[in-house]
Amino acid sequence: MANLVSFPSGQVDYLYGSPVGELWQLYDGKDIVLITDTNLFALYPGLFANRRHVVLPAGENSKSLETINWVVESLIQLEATRSTTLIGIGGGVVTDITGFAASVYMRGIPFGFVPTTLLGMVDAAIGGKNGVNVGLHKNMAGTFNQPAFILYDTGFLGTLPKQEWANGFAETIKYACIFDAALFSELQQHDIAYYRQNAPALNAIIEKCATWKNITVINDEHEKGLRKLLNFGHTAGHAIETLYAIPHGEAVAIGMAIAARLSEDVTSLSPSATLQITKLLEQYNLPTTYPIETTKAMELMKMDKKRTNSSIGYILLDAIGKASVHTLPFGQLEKAMRLCAQ
Ligand code: ADP
Ligand code: ZN
Repeated sequence: MANLVSFPSGQVDYLYGSPVGELWQLYDGKDIVLITDTNLFALYPGLFANRRHVVLPAGENSKSLETINWVVESLIQLEATRSTTLIGIGGGVVTDITGFAASVYMRGIPFGFVPTTLLGMVDAAIGGKNGVNVGLHKNMAGTFNQPAFILYDTGFLGTLPKQEWANGFAETIKYACIFDAALFSELQQHDIAYYRQNAPALNAIIEKCATWKNITVINDEHEKGLRKLLNFGHTAGHAIETLYAIPHGEAVAIGMAIAARLSEDVTSLSPSATLQITKLLEQYNLPTTYPIETTKAMELMKMDKKRTNSSIGYILLDAIGKASVHTLPFGQLEKAMRLCAQ
């Protein structure tokens, strides 16, 4: 069912609960090129047979400017034109590359996303940010540009590895922490196994998270204020992810635990709220501590996009379901990080 959402930079059609086959009807006779990664290509060969496609090596290493260059060269070879629509079928890596490559190929061609990970469905595919990593700097180069559509086919999640489910729930728990106490209580009552077996419940939480992200982005597409709240757990999280090459969701989970501890000091978040957050993360197979080398992590954060020389913009919780932006001295952050560095 079509569901147009208007962002300042363009309209996105959210096709919730739509089997991927609907795409072939929508684009029947039209000029499309598909982008995917090696894992999805192996799992769903029928999707790509007889359709022009580009296959990226699976994994975060593909999120680079070199990949963009290679995709552009592939598009030239496939004779893609300004009227070609580029469709990314995959996780966050694939959708980021698709959005970036489509934004620069011939100065911009239309594109759409079919996220196939829970993380992609609730977070990465949404919001019009398409970035790649440069060296150790995450998402340091990229574009702001909205896809024409995002198609949600939760059938893809049937093949999603267990760890990837946990990664998706890290972002889901993030939305619950910053915006939605009711979602937090719902998540407390269930676990990954429940949502894997209960498609209507899964679809409902996906749509809820996507809606939260949409509301946030509509009000602040270029991350001047409200959108910053979505970085909850991500400042320390990105540093941990970069230093130890652990999955994004796990790193964000540890980052959220650190932010909760920090909130106790700064916003007087109750220790029982921190306990509920760490318990919920563990319930969804996510870590809340890590043997972080805090000095190294602090050095990395000092290079973060959100910092000044002595302080850093940080998202904290006032309560479960309510977040706020703070400027903190680095020392205070390091102290909270040590509490989670086990
Ligand atoms: P994200 O940023 O959404 O976690 P990635 O693009 O890094 O996404 O994908 C994570 C991993 O999951 C990759 O190895 C990818 O190939 C794999 N993957 C994505 N979707 C599926 C799926 N539906 N079934 C199996 N594996 C998948
Ligand atoms: Zn994230």
